[in-house]
Amino acid sequence: MLKEKISLLVDSKKEIFCDLSDRIWDHPEIGLEEFYSSEAIIKVLKDEGFTVETGLAGIGTAFKGTWGTGHPAIGFLGEYDALAGMSQKSMSTFQEPVEEGCPGHGCGHNLLGAGALAAAVALKDHLEAEGLPGTVIYFGCPAEETASCKTPMARDGVFNAADIAITWHSADKSRVVTETCLTDCMMVFRFKGKSAHAAAAPHLGRSALDAAELFNVGIQYLREHIPDGCRIQYAYLDVGGQAPNVVQNRAALYYDYRALDNKMSAELRPRIIRVAEGAAHMTETEMECEVTSAMSNYVPNMALSETMGEAMEELGPIGFSKEAYDLADRMTETIPETDIKESAASFREFLESDEAERRAALHLQDEPLPYKAFVKREMASTDVGDVSYVVPTAQCKVTTETFGSQLHSWQVVSQGKSPIAHEGMIYAAKVMALTAAKVIADPDLFEAVISEHRKNIPAYDCPLPEGIIPKVVR
Ligand SMILES: [Zn+2]
Repeated sequence: MLKEKISLLVDSKKEIFCDLSDRIWDHPEIGLEEFYSSEAIIKVLKDEGFTVETGLAGIGTAFKGTWGTGHPAIGFLGEYDALAGMSQKSMSTFQEPVEEGCPGHGCGHNLLGAGALAAAVALKDHLEAEGLPGTVIYFGCPAEETASCKTPMARDGVFNAADIAITWHSADKSRVVTETCLTDCMMVFRFKGKSAHAAAAPHLGRSALDAAELFNVGIQYLREHIPDGCRIQYAYLDVGGQAPNVVQNRAALYYDYRALDNKMSAELRPRIIRVAEGAAHMTETEMECEVTSAMSNYVPNMALSETMGEAMEELGPIGFSKEAYDLADRMTETIPETDIKESAASFREFLESDEAERRAALHLQDEPLPYKAFVKREMASTDVGDVSYVVPTAQCKVTTETFGSQLHSWQVVSQGKSPIAHEGMIYAAKVMALTAAKVIADPDLFEAVISEHRKNIPAYDCPLPEGIIPKVVR
């Protein structure tokens, strides 16, 4: 049976991928600076006989590895960026950084890159063993957290090499993702004024900090008049200095806004810019702005997602070890009740109430949730969205952490090299490789996936302007 074949292939090399994931965890690098991590993945790709191309879309740490020929061409998406300031010791049940202020893998991306690679290698081994035609492509996708590099990669045609794309994310429960999400756009606004002595000659100064503050106040008023579901947030990049007796001649803000789709996002952008222009006008300062990253909303391919649901159902529970359960028992003590309740709330959408209650009391979610074709929306964003406009895409979430653990928390970093993480990651690789193997084994299914995409997905209008190459924003 296909399931047994794929499981055996993934298991036969699992040490390679657990070790790879651990080494990436040990060398946490923020987006666009994932030099160690991308090299580590490329080394395994080459060892496994893949042909590697680097520097895709003008991004130093974007790459792809290709094996085989012909169709279907199956793409696996892998990430490897860490989060700034999230350093945390492994397997610790309290917050203690390895090195204060350093990055850490708070979103499990060490697992994502290694897990997707385990799936790609298992599929390659399967095609080779069975003498089947087809191409396996591993896409190394940098800076998911900050610069959303899949978008410029999609804009520049990188994913056109694949017929379908498959990916996953670490989570506290396992299920296929069938809901859409929000678009996301990040912009930097810089104000330039004129410095002066704040007491002796304030009339000679023009405050960039005033402009930044008025811009933010203007945005609070704009919020009432934008469509439901939109989100606008900001952070200060530069407050102009620390001397209150100086009129600040520079200030910079980092804006992040979301909408239901690219059209709504494109309509919101000039309205935000007009508020910034107004603030500059009021303060007689100058304003410059630029889009630094953008993401489309995710549109799942339902035929492919359903196939992934079947793969998950056939594979059944993850089968966590005693070590994994023991760690989950200890970790649960550190997770606030409110976080666990929030996580348990969604069970009612998948399960009868008795079963939902039973699972809500478990510290570790071993069994996947049943497949459900939702048409709802997650109030978050992912750059997988842009891939989903270009090629039919499916993604799942798989348990790699104690129930109730929140992404971007120290608990996730702490569990990133644990048995829970390793066992979940290997399971995710099996789900992804089995999904791909099912598509390859069934030409009618492949045709259904492709024709659904052609029929349902609007033409891709990339939200990231032409020519913008992502950079680290500071
Ligand atoms: Zn993430």
